[in-house]
Amino acid sequence: MTILEGIQLTTEYLEKKGIDSARMNAELMLAHILKCKRLDLYLQFDKPLKDEEVSLYREFLKRRSQFEPLQYILGTVEFYGLEFKVNRSVLIPRPETEILIETILNNTSKEVSLTILDIGTGSGNIPISLARNLPLAKITSIDISGSAVELANENAVLNGVNENITFVNAGIDEYAPDEKFDIIVSNPPYVSKDEYQNLQPEILNYEPIEAVTDNNDGFYFYNLISEKAKSFLRRPGSLYFELGAELFPEVKNIMERKGFEKITFKKDYLNIERVIYGELN
Ligand code: GLN
Repeated sequence: MTILEGIQLTTEYLEKKGIDSARMNAELMLAHILKCKRLDLYLQFDKPLKDEEVSLYREFLKRRSQFEPLQYILGTVEFYGLEFKVNRSVLIPRPETEILIETILNNTSKEVSLTILDIGTGSGNIPISLARNLPLAKITSIDISGSAVELANENAVLNGVNENITFVNAGIDEYAPDEKFDIIVSNPPYVSKDEYQNLQPEILNYEPIEAVTDNNDGFYFYNLISEKAKSFLRRPGSLYFELGAELFPEVKNIMERKGFEKITFKKDYLNIERVIYGELN
């Protein structure tokens, strides 16, 4: 079987199974197996695949056709221009979350040394992207999942910022920091218990449930983190959240009730209010 034949067969099979962007998926899986760039495949369409490459391709194809996310199959994802390892113990970093990073970086001076707390770090995408761009920042990241903390640590080493970040295996309920922070950031699980059942199979069957839903009304962690921020933040101090679609008005109310001021949002590419932030003074 040649590269082109492999791609064509795989594309057809994925299409039949109802996978979106089947051709792109087929190409990315093969490029990963051949350790080349996707576009390099086009320069060697007639090259025959080795037996072990074909059998790995079959294995990937089977996993993808069962709706396993491509990122878990490849074990890696790009976020904010950096590479992150991912596995099923962490949420796959989403492009929307880059807006959270962008917003914090726009509001924060590179020249001062700030302390930042990141709650629910997952793959470590948030603290690592911040650390790469705020070299003086001292970041603490917590996650209730021990395997997430392990992977986040690995990602920090991979990206050369492990000296700037301390990872702690703790949930926000139990976490008791011995310092105050200038900035708190979180992309909390914000899908409500009711909405969770309707998510696409890639998420429902593969991503860690506790990273996606609060098993409540969707506002549980916005409430809890805003409350904790009152004692964890220095004054002035800022709190940044990623938002689920349509959550802005209620999260704004929550933050106002806890005493936050100058509450602002940033929209994403789909014109959805995706990031909210405010200050305690
Ligand atoms: N902080 C990670 C992210 O933003 C994980 C968030 C989560 O698991 N809810 O992708």
